[in-house]
Amino acid sequence: MQGVGFRPYVNRLALALGLGGWVANSSDGVTVDIEGTDVAVEDFLRRLTTQLPPLARLDRLHTQELALAGYTVFTIHPSTSTDAPTALVLPDVATCDDCLNEISNPSDRRYRYPFTNCTNCGPRFSILETLPYDRANTTMRLFVMCDYCRAEYEMPADRRFHAQPNACPECGPQLALQDSIGTNLAHRDHALRAAAEALRNGKIVALKGLGGFQLLVDARNDTAVGELRRRKGRPHKPFAVMVASLAHAETVCYVSALEQELLASPQAPIVLLRRGVHPDRPHPAKTRSAIADVVAPDNPLLGVMLPYTPLHHLLLRELEFPIVITSGNLSGEPMAIDEHDALKRLRGIADLFLVHNRPVACALDDSVVRVIAGRAMMLRRARGYAPLPVALKQRLPSLLALGGHLKSAIATTVGSQVMIGPHVGDLDTTPARKAFHGAMHRLRGLHAVQPVAIVCDQHPDYYSSHVARSSGTKVITVQHHVAHIAACMADNGIEGPVLGVAWDGTGYGNDGTIWGGEFITVDGVSTRRVAHLRPFALAGGEKAVTEPRRAAIGVLYELFGESAFGGTTLEALRSFSAAERKVLVRMLARNLNAPRTSSMGRLFDAVASLTGLVQRSSFQGQAAMALEFALDEHPPQVQYHIELQSRDDDAQGALILDWRPMLQALLADIVRGAPTSHVAAAFHNALVEALVDVAQRFGNTRVVLSGGCFQNRYLTERAIDRLRHAGFEPYWHQHVPPNDGGLALGQAMWAARLLEAGVA
Ligand code: ZN
Ligand code: ZN
Ligand code: FE
Repeated sequence: MQGVGFRPYVNRLALALGLGGWVANSSDGVTVDIEGTDVAVEDFLRRLTTQLPPLARLDRLHTQELALAGYTVFTIHPSTSTDAPTALVLPDVATCDDCLNEISNPSDRRYRYPFTNCTNCGPRFSILETLPYDRANTTMRLFVMCDYCRAEYEMPADRRFHAQPNACPECGPQLALQDSIGTNLAHRDHALRAAAEALRNGKIVALKGLGGFQLLVDARNDTAVGELRRRKGRPHKPFAVMVASLAHAETVCYVSALEQELLASPQAPIVLLRRGVHPDRPHPAKTRSAIADVVAPDNPLLGVMLPYTPLHHLLLRELEFPIVITSGNLSGEPMAIDEHDALKRLRGIADLFLVHNRPVACALDDSVVRVIAGRAMMLRRARGYAPLPVALKQRLPSLLALGGHLKSAIATTVGSQVMIGPHVGDLDTTPARKAFHGAMHRLRGLHAVQPVAIVCDQHPDYYSSHVARSSGTKVITVQHHVAHIAACMADNGIEGPVLGVAWDGTGYGNDGTIWGGEFITVDGVSTRRVAHLRPFALAGGEKAVTEPRRAAIGVLYELFGESAFGGTTLEALRSFSAAERKVLVRMLARNLNAPRTSSMGRLFDAVASLTGLVQRSSFQGQAAMALEFALDEHPPQVQYHIELQSRDDDAQGALILDWRPMLQALLADIVRGAPTSHVAAAFHNALVEALVDVAQRFGNTRVVLSGGCFQNRYLTERAIDRLRHAGFEPYWHQHVPPNDGGLALGQAMWAARLLEAGVA
């Protein structure tokens, strides 16, 4: 891996052992030529693998004996770029303790310098323009090192030896504070202090962070956070907060040992934590009230992260209170990365802009993880993780996988590795599509990929499918839920046969309808849809995605036909006018603009609407989240019943999960006024029992859980638990998200499998 101080480490080791020779970065990795006594050479090889620098990871070590060259010294060669670049690109790394000490020390020359870094920390992927990783190939090429920095850079014993983004207040990037028309108001430390002052006064500040612009606001200030929601067009979706330290995180949330480790890791992701404070933990009264409710409305969880650049550290120290940090974009668009773009797009949102002159090479959102079943599960994979690969067991043909439409992320294969680009977002808007092309060119460029095929979803109208078809390269399509299951298999390093459970919102099915409550067996390249949710109609088609009440109408119609629309006891029905209800009945009765779906996400929507939790949603997954959050901490052991029906008339012979008995009981509970927590528990538990029932009908020991529904902690943990109890081996996501952000990995893995079998 490049940029972790590996060459300096090799150099020090060789010098300590009296070996001659050289070390060089190449696009293939690192090459070392050493010469010396047998004992010293053996010692070198042993220590090379056991005493690696903190961020280094040795994937493979090849050794070869060469003729003596008579080296008298050991040298570090400059990088070569003759081979195809296949070396790993290191993600950005959170500020290390040594650098933190320097910016805190008034007598250090980097005191309060926001761009301090070293070989153990700092920007990498976000400044990288091309491989190999040398300063000239990063956006730091614009800055000429001063004599001090140059000396550090060239001194093998120094912590900054060959630290490519090395900089100091004399020679490196600097801050400026601008108003919304781009006029400079302050520079350097004054800019930082003035921005802090503005935040203290409830202003919204756009900060040029590591991977692009972020919007900041005082997380305690209801009015200011509400104003940010209004300006950004983001009424409900939870915001994440940044707190100064682990200790501070513990004053607002429960933090387990694993969650602490994740928060303080070099990747420094947003970790979803449960709000509240341990009763036996003393908490400072002044920070207790810290987080305004409007930061994450009706949400028992809070996304929390720690500062991960010196700039964030300095700002948080200045403020002494937590801040909301959210991507600098309009809802649905990618984040702005340069000042010009930011001023144009964020003018109506931010009051002030805290900028600097180090260009961002690639937009990188903050990554999001959640601990599920005792392990970290990636929910959004970007800063700190991208573009690290998931390694498969076999060598793969060169492929470019374009992912889906929502939560877009692309992947490319190099050798046996699947390099996964950062989260781009939904591909609905022109700026998002532009960012998608940018990400594609960047990933291809970095790894010099000449794909033999481009892989995309089977959906004919996804933007990514259009891009694939117009590429002029061979196209391989992979069914959406097969890709989900393949992604989870690749994520867990398993080959199959498996029973795949893919539960999500929307995926194009083999029969052209919308799937999403799927059970698919996978064996080699053969797949069979062995069971699925009983389909129901979505009146208004696409509109149903943002209106859970339409899914509710759909299931009611399945149960009661037109008579379902007589009463108005249910909020789902009341929320439509009489005239609207009339139109809906007609749509459903005549099958007009009422596509049928087997989507589990839409079933969650229906239940969230029937229980009165959400009628219209403003972000993906809102209804499903509301149902999960409606659960008590220890939900009661109650459950509705889902009937498994074998359908002889179904050509595929798939089992149907008939949810009608469940819905009958659920409606009866609602009518008798049962608490929502009870209904939610009985619903979740019914789904898990049906899942185990289906697993028992098929002979696969391995059961793979994928799709956005498995971001639900209760659902996933209970499924794992019940499956294990019944003798199965459950697998779930860790390194890539269960949502559509993980599709590209599955597409690449599956396409490689098809090519290998000669069926693509
Ligand atoms: Zn450092
Ligand atoms: Zn300098
Ligand atoms: Fe999906």
